[in-house]
Amino acid sequence: MSEDDLEVLRTRSDELQTRIAKECCVLYDGAESAAWACGPGWDDPLEKLSYKLEALNVQLYDRWKVKVVVAQVKEKFGTLRFYFECLVDGNGEPTHEQVVLSHYAEDLASEYVRKAEEECYGVCEECGTPIGTCESPRCCTLGWYRYLCRDCAMRHEEGSPPVTYEMNGKFYEGDKEIPSPFKSKSERRK
Ligand SMILES: [Zn+2]
Repeated sequence: MSEDDLEVLRTRSDELQTRIAKECCVLYDGAESAAWACGPGWDDPLEKLSYKLEALNVQLYDRWKVKVVVAQVKEKFGTLRFYFECLVDGNGEPTHEQVVLSHYAEDLASEYVRKAEEECYGVCEECGTPIGTCESPRCCTLGWYRYLCRDCAMRHEEGSPPVTYEMNGKFYEGDKEIPSPFKSKSERRK
């Protein structure tokens, strides 16, 4: 995928995040954008997850004032982190129904989130290519953890020296295989 193609992906991602924030307005609490702090490669799982969570809000909010609200969506150590809160609107103590339904919403939302996080682990964060196979290996860029396809790992940090990354247990700098930059356990003990 070329840099131009990636630019197209990023623009599309911005548009998607605006639409999602609008259509899932309870989940994103009326924000203008979903503000996902991760690469556009994870858009599909995040779009699906947002609608699943907003569907809970559609069922629970109008009548019961129970809602799921996103706190933060970001990439950390190469994986998706999707933080949410389950809230009950209104003054005073929540009713028995509200307590039961917020437990229900929280359990279901956690399950949906876990599935989406797993799905994201299987695709390149930048371009969305399924990774972890021979044809498109999962690469872990070194120095900062990000799981990417090989093309994206190599393109990273343009203008800087060839990026170092791990692929299938071997280490590379650009195209060239290099010795492990990590000391083995026996060396560390010396
Ligand atoms: Zn990629």
